Amino acid sequence: MPLFGIIQGATYKNLRRECAQRTVELNFPGYAIGGLMIGEPSSLTNEMVGEVNGVVPEKKPRYLMGCGYPEDIIEAVGLGVDLFDCVLPTRNGRTGMAFTSRGKVIIKASRYAMDKAPLDKQCGCYTCRNFSRAYLRHLFNTGEALAGRLVSFHNIYFYSKLMSQIRKQIGKGTFSTFSRKMLRRFDFRSP
Ligand SMILES: [Zn+2]
Repeated sequence: MPLFGIIQGATYKNLRRECAQRTVELNFPGYAIGGLMIGEPSSLTNEMVGEVNGVVPEKKPRYLMGCGYPEDIIEAVGLGVDLFDCVLPTRNGRTGMAFTSRGKVIIKASRYAMDKAPLDKQCGCYTCRNFSRAYLRHLFNTGEALAGRLVSFHNIYFYSKLMSQIRKQIGKGTFSTFSRKMLRRFDFRSP
């Protein structure tokens, strides 16, 4: 298990830079960027990530801790981040919020009571292949534990597909076009 050095420094550019330099001197196999994604404006997150990634060697993996919304991930990849972790896909899944190719679906809403369509028509996951929105809504409303599991399963599938698309686009050299397109389409951060 490789040991990552965690770079701190809140939202102070000079502290981020200094911490990055000193952590890099210790020569870790990879570097984590900590203390961000805790509610600060995304412009500030991006500024700090840019500062740190200017110091961390390009060949070492960079991991942005707690980075979770699809838009945040796409922006961070554009700034050179490789790894992510976040509770969002499962935490939101447990409360009935699905990440879909058409945006957020709050499955408990009454508009889905008779909706026979899957959570996401463009998704091939187990949940979308087997269950309707109306059935998932019913599971939530009756307090069935399966409800949160099925939506979490879909969300993890959605994220894993997003990451594989990102890798493919980077490989083809078309990531920036893809990034602009996805950032126009996604609006998961808004409340
Ligand atoms: Zn699905």
